[in-house]
Amino acid sequence: SVEAVKFVYDFTEGNKDLKDLLGGKGANLAEMTNLGLPVPPGFTITTEACKVYLDSGEEPAALRDEVSAHLDALEAKMGKKLGQADDPLLVSVRSGAKFSMPGMMDTVLNIGLSDKSVQGLAKQAGDDRFAWDSYRRLIQMFGKTVLGVDGDLFEEALEAAKGAKKVTVDTELEAADLKKLVTRFKKIVKAEAGRDFPQDPREQMDLAIHAVFDSWNTDRAKLYRRQERIPGDLGTAVNVCSMVFGNLGPDSGTGVAFTRDPASGHQGVYGDYLQNAQGEDVVAGIRNTVPLAELETIDKKSYDQLMQIMETLENHYKDLCDIEFTIERGQLWMLQTRVGKRTAGAAFRIATQLVDQGLIDETEALQRVNGAQLAQLMFPRFDEDAKVEKVGRGIAASPGAAVGKAVFDSYTAVKWSRSGEKVILVRRETNPDDLDGMIAAEGILTSRGGKTSHAAVVARGMGKTCVCGAEELEVDTKRRRMTVPGGHVVEEGDLISIDGSSGKVYLGEVPVVPSPVVEYFEGRMHAGANDADELVEAVHRIMAFADRKRRLRVRANADNAEDALRARRFGAQGIGLCRTEHMFLGDRRELVERLILADTQAEREESLAALLPLQKKDFVELFSAMDGLPVTVRLLDPPLHEFLPDITELSVRVALAESRQESHENDLRLLQAVHRLHEQNPMLGLRGVRLGLVIPGLFTMQVRAIAEAAAERKAAKGDPRAEIMIPLVGTVQELEIVREEADQVIAEVQEVTGTDLKLSIGTMIELPRAALTAGQIAEAAEFFSFGTNDLTQTVWGFSRDDVEASFFTAYLEKGIFGVSPFETIDRDGVGSLVKSAVEAGRATRPDLKLGVCGEHGGDPESVHFFHEVGLDYVSCSPFRIPVARLEAGRAAT
Ligand code: PEP
Ligand code: MG
Repeated sequence: SVEAVKFVYDFTEGNKDLKDLLGGKGANLAEMTNLGLPVPPGFTITTEACKVYLDSGEEPAALRDEVSAHLDALEAKMGKKLGQADDPLLVSVRSGAKFSMPGMMDTVLNIGLSDKSVQGLAKQAGDDRFAWDSYRRLIQMFGKTVLGVDGDLFEEALEAAKGAKKVTVDTELEAADLKKLVTRFKKIVKAEAGRDFPQDPREQMDLAIHAVFDSWNTDRAKLYRRQERIPGDLGTAVNVCSMVFGNLGPDSGTGVAFTRDPASGHQGVYGDYLQNAQGEDVVAGIRNTVPLAELETIDKKSYDQLMQIMETLENHYKDLCDIEFTIERGQLWMLQTRVGKRTAGAAFRIATQLVDQGLIDETEALQRVNGAQLAQLMFPRFDEDAKVEKVGRGIAASPGAAVGKAVFDSYTAVKWSRSGEKVILVRRETNPDDLDGMIAAEGILTSRGGKTSHAAVVARGMGKTCVCGAEELEVDTKRRRMTVPGGHVVEEGDLISIDGSSGKVYLGEVPVVPSPVVEYFEGRMHAGANDADELVEAVHRIMAFADRKRRLRVRANADNAEDALRARRFGAQGIGLCRTEHMFLGDRRELVERLILADTQAEREESLAALLPLQKKDFVELFSAMDGLPVTVRLLDPPLHEFLPDITELSVRVALAESRQESHENDLRLLQAVHRLHEQNPMLGLRGVRLGLVIPGLFTMQVRAIAEAAAERKAAKGDPRAEIMIPLVGTVQELEIVREEADQVIAEVQEVTGTDLKLSIGTMIELPRAALTAGQIAEAAEFFSFGTNDLTQTVWGFSRDDVEASFFTAYLEKGIFGVSPFETIDRDGVGSLVKSAVEAGRATRPDLKLGVCGEHGGDPESVHFFHEVGLDYVSCSPFRIPVARLEAGRAAT
């Protein structure tokens, strides 16, 4: 018989490892329940049920009975029935996916209230006002999220009620006013949804469950998932939880807390508390909260209990947790916990703090940070010494230094950023509808809300600079302006600067300085006591963990001594790609021009001879900068026309000269050469090894320069370790011919100088044919370096210079891929070619050295892939070396 699938789990049945099935919220509610913490009883409907519903449009057949059974059990436990007239059990119906999507999906509170049970609730609570306020909230929330009624209609009715009463805040409305409002709300529902607000509590609950399922696929949820790279097919779980009330008077309230500071990692009391309020009020940042520490004076018993629970949670999860709680008439209830989001700097600090506390080991510490966070810490910061006009200070919600033009709505943020402007999104507070504006902006500034407001949570998640709760700024979104203390008005389009690490807001553009982490890698800053150094200390330790763990070596793509030295300081273990074409630019271009234009062998040899000492000098510098470490020098790769003047410019010059009857002999020759060398698809044309084969003497000149430079370094008691790399090889024959010539030159230099240079010769694997025939190519190559830029270009048939700007946005929007294959290695396509080439190459030559030097070498996800397929090293630009080291360490854990 087929075992029946279980779609509903009581909170006592789950645990924190069941996030796939129960969602993050459900899994952690279960975990807390089983830890014996005060969680209001309830149950979770699985993501599997959601998936069936979303796929078929109907809930699974077994769901209804399962929900009934769990509801019965819940009612028995609570001693009252859902919506019971004299004493109703009320429940919340909350979404909760595997990955947190703050505010993206729906929640309905106070399910179970009806015209009858509202009376019972009033009696039980001894509070008419509370009961009617709860009922009007239910109709409002239910009307908007379940029945699709425009939420503004309820807001307007609420405003009208306040206006009629001449009051400004809704807490001043009395029971009778709220009762009238309920009647008004029900009329709105009837008119807009074409049905009555359901009085049957079970119907309320079932409809709310379906609404939560449906909210998985709202536009804003989809956008958020795309941004956060959360798969679209996971579905959400639904948590049905007995209601507790934070709005039953001054001895009630609701709050959010962190077990340590999510911005610095410091231990202490961090959070916000709002007296006499219901949960959503805090997260929405609508009313201003008090710091959690004040709870100690408001309600010492609950405060002490909360502190103890927080310690239990940290020790249990061995990580920073964030918490939502409610106090109902002096009784503390835990409504949610999860391993909390944190800033990049805090991630590093917390990981090392937890190691010091003995809660986690080095390997686990590496899992608590990532390369993207490290990259974020390497961003520059505002120059503290700059002359600036500080106009406000809010809460440092998400670090970074952002400069841009102030815009006051998301639509403008998106529009302006599309046209290339940098913008700061300024709002009173943000809500989920602001998501695309937040994505488009350099930073976000709000005048209300705390560290746990929507803006703060979402910005931190995106790694975007955010200052929130800057209360002295008067933001007027309607008139698109804000007034700063002293009366100055910032209009839409005015430049402002915000510092997400200090919370400071400045007028104009503040200059930026390098980050302390970069100063550390540069060797200009060391561990110490103040705040920045604490971060440096943590980074230093985590990098040491990674270096101990990793198997992949990390090299740099660098073409000159300066970059090479920086790369070395950043931890590079050699150069994986020196692009020699970069040595032929500037004033040497003319020499290359002469080489290309040479009509006779003598002319060609003359220009090569002029280039030789220059190349040699470059290599001497490079080898001495990288003394003792391998340096892979790639012979000339790009199409020759890249060294010649632009065809249009040159044509104009020739035409002008002709009309003026001036002499233009040289330009004419150049123009002819440009025409001769013009190609429709230069990237598929005369470049790489093909150049070496058709331009006599070019590659041998480069090989001679390398060999002579190495010999010179040896003579100077240096330790040069040059590797010669041939680009764009498609067949072993090409490599064999070049190799034969190169070996001859090397032998010659060795003989003349009397040194053994130990130069190795290898090739790039950057064409599909090279990858497919890697077994043959390895016969003639001592190493492979995967050129994943060209390999991606040729495997997909995507022009690497064009497609990202032309149609990739459409591809990303359609979900054809989640990230550009030029950024993160396409495992299934390009990656599988890399994998089979590795295997074939090693089969031919077991000691074949294998690396990658395409842009992917510094991309976190790709580094994990290269580790998995067994490369020896990755090579990337100097600034990405720390990230590659870290990710190589993480990949090896
Ligand atoms: C590559 O193709 O991946 C590569 C490293 O070479 P280039 O980017 O210079 O073509
Ligand atoms: Mg290439």
